[in-house]
Amino acid sequence: MTTEHYDVAVVGGGLVGLSLAAVLGRSGFKTALVEAREPQLEWDENSIDLRVYAISRVSQQLITDAGAWDSIAPHACAYRDMHVWDAGGNGEIHFDSAELGEPDLGHIIESRVIEKALLDVIKAQPGIEWLCPTNVASIEESDGRHKVVLEEGRELVASLLVGADGKHSSIRDYAGIHARASDYGQQALVAVVDTERGHDHTAWQRFLPTGPLAFLPLRGGMSSIVWSATSDEAKRLLSLDDADFCAELGKAFDYRLGNVLSCGERVLFPLARQYAERYVAPGIALVGDASHVIHPLAGQGVNLGFKDVRELVSVLSEARDAGRDIGSLPVLRRYERARKGDNMATMLAMDGFKHLFGTRVPPVRWLRNAGLNLFDAATPLKNLVIRSAMGL
Ligand SMILES: Cc1cc2nc3c(=O)[nH]c(=O)nc-3n(C[C@H](O)[C@H](O)[C@H](O)COP(=O)(O)OP(=O)(O)OC[C@H]3O[C@@H](n4cnc5c(N)ncnc54)[C@H](O)[C@@H]3O)c2cc1C
Repeated sequence: MTTEHYDVAVVGGGLVGLSLAAVLGRSGFKTALVEAREPQLEWDENSIDLRVYAISRVSQQLITDAGAWDSIAPHACAYRDMHVWDAGGNGEIHFDSAELGEPDLGHIIESRVIEKALLDVIKAQPGIEWLCPTNVASIEESDGRHKVVLEEGRELVASLLVGADGKHSSIRDYAGIHARASDYGQQALVAVVDTERGHDHTAWQRFLPTGPLAFLPLRGGMSSIVWSATSDEAKRLLSLDDADFCAELGKAFDYRLGNVLSCGERVLFPLARQYAERYVAPGIALVGDASHVIHPLAGQGVNLGFKDVRELVSVLSEARDAGRDIGSLPVLRRYERARKGDNMATMLAMDGFKHLFGTRVPPVRWLRNAGLNLFDAATPLKNLVIRSAMGL
């Protein structure tokens, strides 16, 4: 059996693991990336991936640094405005990129487009080994390093083992890091829909008592919806025929884009929050959903993962340049300290929004709507919040 040595072995080639490997490779780290699932590399150009992401400006910068933005840009849909309003009153907030002097607030991009662009970068770099499809068979410690044995038979020894393997992370389990999870009692219904009026390059979100409903603009004038609702309600919405579903969706969305004309396949995602108690152990680090899973209501999950990537590569580069061991705990703790607070604050903010907008108690509803309108009128504060969400 051959044993190969790497600076970093990344397990999990979702968007976070792919971007990490791409940036590590460009920073001169010899990297192995292990992924169990074959990526989708070809598709009908007229089709739209069910999984789309709101990608913030700071994430766009990371993807640019990874060398993948130029091939993504022609397929990305910029959104220049954002409208958020409350179904339980008259409260509304409007964010406008022109007010900030920015060309846009972010982009909506299909998952498969980002995945393929990052993979193309990875395959073009001799310092990165793409090992797919294969799974981790076992991990053991050898001379202070972790040895990963793959199901296909190869052995990898790395100074640092990174778990980018999502919410059910086996690397987190191996490291003995406990993750606290709790169910939101909601599921998100995701679909691509066509509406009577164009989306006007605007991201829309209406808070219903049963959960938030988002319309995200796609190229070609279509919209991607994420409709979070109690599990029973989400299952009921899934069971409707297309005509009844479109009618309910249009009404729930206040007909902001007119009637919903048609919808594609509908899929449910169960929603739970989860956070790892630690992000690091000797020779091991966790990034992305392996360390934090949040409610998708503000589309921040993968954006937080990209911020993890930026921080981890910065910490590792500094350690290497100073001649320090990149797997040592004091080095890795710098990464953990830099990211845990931001990830936790975002998770708590999402929980706060979910509970605030889920309440039907009249005084709270009144205060909530008054607060939204006050916030909308407070331009400097509003601009500060949106700039922070954009990562500027
Ligand atoms: C409905 C919905 C909408 C969302 N919308 C947005 C949005 O607009 N913007 C946003 O920022 N976030 C959004 N999110 C959150 C986002 O989907 C996640 O945060 C993101 O996918 C996490 O990426 P990841 O790479 O960390 O993990 P994952 O995407 O889970 O990838 C993990 C990868 O690891 C692989 N893997 C696992 N175990 C092994 C193993 N043992 N060996 C090899 N490979 C392994 C898996 O095959 C997988 O490819 C949304 C989430 C939901 C549910």
